[in-house]
Amino acid sequence: MTVKPNLIGGEWREGSSAIESINPSDTRESIGHYALADAAQMREAVVAARAAQPAWSATTTQVRSDLLLKTSIELAVRKEEIGELVSREAGKTRAEGIGEVLRASQIFQFFAGEAVRYGGENLPSVRPNINVQISRDPVGVVALITPWNFPIAIAAWKLAPALAFGNTAVLKPSEETPGVAWELFRVLERNGLPAGVANLVNGRGADAGEALVEGVDALSFTGSVRTGRGLAQSAIANMVRVQLEMGGKNPLVVLDDADLGVAVESALNGSFFSAGQRCTASSRLIVTAAIHDRFVDALRKRMRSLKIGHALTAGTDIGPLINQRQLDTVQGYLQTGRDEGAELVEGGQLLQAGTPGFFMQPALMTETSNSMRINREEVFGPFATVIRAADYDEALALADDTEYGLSAGICTTSHKYASHFRQHVKSGLAMINLPTAGLDYHVPFGGTKASSYGQREQGTYAVDFYTNSKTAYVGY
Ligand code: NAD
Repeated sequence: MTVKPNLIGGEWREGSSAIESINPSDTRESIGHYALADAAQMREAVVAARAAQPAWSATTTQVRSDLLLKTSIELAVRKEEIGELVSREAGKTRAEGIGEVLRASQIFQFFAGEAVRYGGENLPSVRPNINVQISRDPVGVVALITPWNFPIAIAAWKLAPALAFGNTAVLKPSEETPGVAWELFRVLERNGLPAGVANLVNGRGADAGEALVEGVDALSFTGSVRTGRGLAQSAIANMVRVQLEMGGKNPLVVLDDADLGVAVESALNGSFFSAGQRCTASSRLIVTAAIHDRFVDALRKRMRSLKIGHALTAGTDIGPLINQRQLDTVQGYLQTGRDEGAELVEGGQLLQAGTPGFFMQPALMTETSNSMRINREEVFGPFATVIRAADYDEALALADDTEYGLSAGICTTSHKYASHFRQHVKSGLAMINLPTAGLDYHVPFGGTKASSYGQREQGTYAVDFYTNSKTAYVGY
């Protein structure tokens, strides 16, 4: 059995144990065995990143840009092959897998540009004979902890800005997707990654908790609220800058005047694609009275046309859930919904798709109220609820009545309501006549309330987290 090692200080290192990665579309298929770093090895990775940081931040921005651009190009050239690995390991359809690799490539390309573009400001002082110069220094060593649902894109949107702005990094990917992270590091290494500048430690979350918070200067985390809260406490105790991107309970409002086709396609895509395993998935469909029944009927019809199955089978619209635990969780919420008085009007059955995998028919529950647990807690699966609202004002109030605030959408042909919603909804992303999921890479990403903490990720805003500003006063 070959165990694929971790990359620490430029050396591929065995771990203290290993983990096997399994294809969720066909549990008979092994993706590979991967070395698991224990807490001690994670600390070694932090030490290696610390040692490499002065030289990396002293390189020209051209050197940093070249590494990111070459990485981007290799990812683009190999998008089908690496995309297939994403599909095999994370259960995304082939189109989603390739799309995600292409997205990672675009992110590396964008930050290859940012590496040479970012700058500072020159201002006159308010005092005579002084100039004020504001520049940006790297933060230092950053720990990056990522989830399984976008195994290459999220790693890219943390690693690329970290490296572009002169930091060194330690990445701990999810235990569910070590293979994709391993492949990304092979690409980085082939394209000139200097020893220690980016380190890969596949490992268990519990081992990463303290090891990756002590000794780093900043921590960027994407994952569940529970894990994020715990990490934030240790980060703050260690005076480590922290950025958290977490869960959602994203609403999609459908008003009486909506284009029914747009509303149904937005709900279908936002709620069920990627098996609903997106932090921006729409889980609460808030629908006003006059369109309610027509919308539910049309959505149910479209749900029945979806093809669920092995992620790599041609024509599959929706692949499996990531693992048995996640499948059980979603099934558990269906029961919770029934117990709370909701009606399961479509889907929800476990599926035999020809291969042993974690398949489930997307589920829709109606007659739900916003106080039910199914409308308060993140489910993270192909499961949406419908909540009736009397009018726009009630719909907006329901949309905001949640502890989360990542993405919120509205389907309406009214300029007045679209504009009011965009301005007033309390979320980081507002989607008008579009699914709540589906983002660009060159603009900021993040939420409000329990969904996010700290500075925004992505786009030109990423520089704020990955640098410290320095204000110099120059007398003349
Ligand atoms: P998770 O919190 O279980 O795990 C995320 C990462 O944290 C993994 O690498 C895991 O190993 C690590 N981890 C777990 N316990 C840890 C600990 N004690 N110390 C340090 N690290 C630890 O989340 P998940 O199940 O992998 O991902 C699903 C969650 O991620 C959902 O809640 C989803 O909404 C969220 N998510 C958010 C975004 C966003 O940008 N807002 C994007 C994707 C996913």
